[in-house]
Amino acid sequence: MHHPAVEQVIEELKARNPDETEFHQAAHEVLSSVAAVLEKYPEFVEARVLQRLIEPDRQIMFRVAWLDDSGVPQVNRGFRVQFNNVLGPYKGGLRFHSSVKLGTIKFLAFEQVFKNALTGLPIGGGKGGSDFDPHGRSDNEIMRFCQSFMTELYRHIGADTDVPAGDIGVGEREIGYLFGQYKRLANVYSGVLTGKGPQWGGSLARKQATGYGLVYFTTRMLSARRMDWRGLRTVISGYGNVAIYAAEKAERLGAQVVAMSDSGGYVYDPNGVDIALMRSVKEERRARIDVYAAERRGAEYHAGCSGIWGVPCDVALPCATQNELDGEAAKSLIANGCKVVAEGANMPCTPEAVQAFQSAGVGFGPGKAANAGGVATSLLEMAQNSQRLHWTFDEVDNKLHSIMNGIYDQCSQAAEDFGEPGNLVLGANAAGFVKVARAMLAQGVV
Ligand code: NDP
Repeated sequence: MHHPAVEQVIEELKARNPDETEFHQAAHEVLSSVAAVLEKYPEFVEARVLQRLIEPDRQIMFRVAWLDDSGVPQVNRGFRVQFNNVLGPYKGGLRFHSSVKLGTIKFLAFEQVFKNALTGLPIGGGKGGSDFDPHGRSDNEIMRFCQSFMTELYRHIGADTDVPAGDIGVGEREIGYLFGQYKRLANVYSGVLTGKGPQWGGSLARKQATGYGLVYFTTRMLSARRMDWRGLRTVISGYGNVAIYAAEKAERLGAQVVAMSDSGGYVYDPNGVDIALMRSVKEERRARIDVYAAERRGAEYHAGCSGIWGVPCDVALPCATQNELDGEAAKSLIANGCKVVAEGANMPCTPEAVQAFQSAGVGFGPGKAANAGGVATSLLEMAQNSQRLHWTFDEVDNKLHSIMNGIYDQCSQAAEDFGEPGNLVLGANAAGFVKVARAMLAQGVV
């Protein structure tokens, strides 16, 4: 369905932000699927909700200067985009990766607004990061970079204002250095960052939450097709935080994870990936994935990460980065009999890939719903920080599980309400959008 307001807003957005192609892509996906919502609620069009929604509340860019181990000054660029806070304080991760630019952070922050709305929890959307590349940097270099980054960021964030977390290249180590510097500058011990270590304010199960949540969501997609995980050959791209814990949970539920990857290549392990070994390679040794293949009998390493989509599977979980799975890769998955695809990463499937899956009847779970378990559990970390309490792993995991079930139900109900049962892309966008738009109307033109 088309709506004239949508076409016009997309054109304006492209004209005003000409170089931000990833932001165009994310906005196009959301806006083109809310046409039916605008038909039903003309008051959103009258109040020019779309025009207001696509302009971030605030975008902050800053210089991050730091000294490397040889004493040479290095300069990177830092970002924080505070997109929309009608539902709660800005919330969203920080990404450290050489590919980061303003358009990347804007697309991630925009997605985050609707994802956070879907969780049903009181959080708005933001995202940040830097073009800093942590690969090959020493612990001391990482620390100095994080301290310099926070020296500017700290004045823009706060436990009730904006609460960053991790993303690509930002895990517990980086959150630790960032938190230490925030505490020193602000002189408060507050829940200003999530993803902290469990001994110093972090929540149990936060590390596992995005991957586990992805598997809980996929379980519902499978059961809608009268399937469960037992014996399902599963391909998971990436071997980072999301990928590893998705693999762990899928395997516990009976799946056989046969391939994982990094940005250089992928591992095919026909006997099922040894998750403990994979975790040790990535988390403890911070080594590349080819080290796994060298140590694991029967596993093969193949250079080139996109080859992973040629491995035959029943379920594919792209958990690495945006636009990693294109139309060709989708065709190959479909030809090899893949039945369900759910996005662990943000926007890993190109529009052509999504279209191909939907036309072929492959179940497709969009990232803003399927990977929302991480941010939901971040909110649970904030709740524990405010209460000065710690919940058990099972308490957090049970809450996560029921939040993911709730997200699936909302998406599936909204898809039905807006005339396309089973279309979870439409369902996720429509359900998230309605919540945000209603709150914007209630809070006036600000
Ligand atoms: P990590 O940094 O822990 O891991 C990222 C993984 O992706 C690494 O294996 C990395 O390999 C790989 N990767 C990065 N770029 C590419 C590329 N161009 N091609 C192939 N592989 C690549 O990040 P996370 O696991 O935290 O994040 C992964 C995705 O999940 C991101 O899209 C993120 O936005 C999303 N996400 C994360 C959440 C979280 O809680 N952490 C929450 C919701 C979404 P290499 O080391 O070679 O770069």
